[in-house]
Amino acid sequence: MPALFLGHGSPMNAIESNRHADIWARIGHNTPRPKAILAISAHWYTRGVGVTAMERPKTIHDFGGFPQELFDMQYPAPGSPALAARVRGLLAPLPVAMDQDWGLDHGTWSVLVHVYPQADIPVVQLSIDGTQPAQFHYDLGKRLAPLRDEGILIFGSGNVVHNLGVMRRNGMTPYPWAERFNTFARTALTARDDQALVDYVLQGADAQQSIPTPEHYLPLLYVLGAGAGEPAMIEDDGLEMASISMLSVSFRASASGAAA
Ligand code: ZN
Repeated sequence: MPALFLGHGSPMNAIESNRHADIWARIGHNTPRPKAILAISAHWYTRGVGVTAMERPKTIHDFGGFPQELFDMQYPAPGSPALAARVRGLLAPLPVAMDQDWGLDHGTWSVLVHVYPQADIPVVQLSIDGTQPAQFHYDLGKRLAPLRDEGILIFGSGNVVHNLGVMRRNGMTPYPWAERFNTFARTALTARDDQALVDYVLQGADAQQSIPTPEHYLPLLYVLGAGAGEPAMIEDDGLEMASISMLSVSFRASASGAAA
């Protein structure tokens, strides 16, 4: 199975027909059906590491100020306590909490509604331990890589550039720092300069403005680690609302099966 990082952008992408939704649907068509999905979403940012371990994860509407239609959306994919236990085993001796309270947040379902609209593939979320440095998240991704040979899709959902504080809803022109950081990330992905992506803070002010808080960036590092050594396929790109990057990438053991 591939390892996949998708920029999720606005929650409205869940209900809009647009370029991103089309790309996500195409990925669903072009990817072998996984046995289950392990999702690392920007929106489950915790102290310590947890996995959703319930049979029936609820759809979480973790946003405000959007139309009722979005709050009415459900993504009733089953959970997989077995996959949660497997993740805990792979990450041992790191403590991993078997969570019964979270569910599927919009980082996960706003994208998966397009990739797998039938919601019939089990989904487990892995939380991001916000107390840990970037290298930790990359290393966890590496330890999760064996899941790919077991039919599990590793799916990171975030945004490489994500600054809501200066976002412009109708901003067509990206900030120069956003463009520079996005180009840096894309170039490093294509070159497989993983260490540069782990050490993103070395990009200085561009990184500070693009990643004022790291939760939307870190899912990329899991996917990068899970796809170590494989060529990067850019799935999507572009800056929206001046400060949100839709840069998306997949890693596949064989590039031959990945043609668009
Ligand atoms: Zn988000």
